[in-house]
Amino acid sequence: MFRQLEEFLYPQSLSEAVQKKHEYAEAAAPIAGGTEIVPNLPPNIRCLIDVTRLGLDYIEEESEILRIGATTTMHQVAISPAVAKFANGVLSSSCCQGWPTEVRNTATLGGNVVGAGPFADSPPALLVLDAEVVIARLEGDETLPIQEFFLDYRRTAVGQGILREIRIPRPPIHARGAFLKFARSQVDQALVNLAVMVELEKGVCSKVRVALGAIGRTPQRLLEAERALVDKPLHLECIENVVSIVTELVDPVLDLRASADYRRELAGVLTRRALHQIAS
Ligand SMILES: Cc1cc2nc3c(=O)[nH]c(=O)nc-3n(C[C@H](O)[C@H](O)[C@H](O)COP(=O)(O)OP(=O)(O)OC[C@H]3O[C@@H](n4cnc5c(N)ncnc54)[C@H](O)[C@@H]3O)c2cc1C
Repeated sequence: MFRQLEEFLYPQSLSEAVQKKHEYAEAAAPIAGGTEIVPNLPPNIRCLIDVTRLGLDYIEEESEILRIGATTTMHQVAISPAVAKFANGVLSSSCCQGWPTEVRNTATLGGNVVGAGPFADSPPALLVLDAEVVIARLEGDETLPIQEFFLDYRRTAVGQGILREIRIPRPPIHARGAFLKFARSQVDQALVNLAVMVELEKGVCSKVRVALGAIGRTPQRLLEAERALVDKPLHLECIENVVSIVTELVDPVLDLRASADYRRELAGVLTRRALHQIAS
């Protein structure tokens, strides 16, 4: 499987890793947990750069932000008390629902984000949290809103850089979140996954974020659905209005797992469940 490889590098520093990535350009790829790249190694890759020994596995809570290093495992994120505090654990819930133990202990948050599988579970949660990604480049670090990171099917703005960390601004105390995933079986990838974050003040929504995965080529925020809830209470009527906006708005892909109509219906059902969960 790895016969095409000329080099497997354990860099001593992040800057050495970035330098090597530039040398090989498209023919080099970082490897973290390897759960995605090992079974699907692209044929053009001649160099793998291991990024797991660069001290990027950390979760640091600061006064205004949470910083999560790119090679923090999904399990570490899922069990972190600091992550659980942010919008009642919307990111924690997205990190391991139904994942096999071996995968959750190896797979990294950075790999999940840069791998950019349309079904990936953490991107919708990071989108509703208004996260930022920090990319190490030859010229220095670049910080990007996560909304600008997902460009197309499995294509991101990481380019020739290496993802260093993910930053999440601290949501206000009254922010509530929910992550829901629907898959054919416990261990299968999502047919639809959804994250919602609502800032509720005296029962009225002041800020709303809704993001869906496994629907299109990239995870996406549903701005129209978000706008429909601002300044509204989380009552049955408003929730049903958002559900109908979501089902009308989404234009799902169909694949061997589910038809477009089924995914559209699921998107509405998950939206309703998430909003009721938040309201209660
Ligand atoms: C049995 C099984 C079940 C799974 N179930 C789910 C599931 O339910 N939900 C889900 O979302 N995913 C699931 N996955 C997919 C996978 O485990 C995740 O996407 C994982 O988080 C990828 O992380 P990794 O560290 O293994 O990435 P790797 O495989 O090491 O890398 C993935 C991609 O990211 C790039 N990359 C990695 N780290 C960096 C970095 N720091 N900077 C730049 N590029 C980087 C690599 O070059 C590669 O292109 C499953 C996988 C398996 C095998």
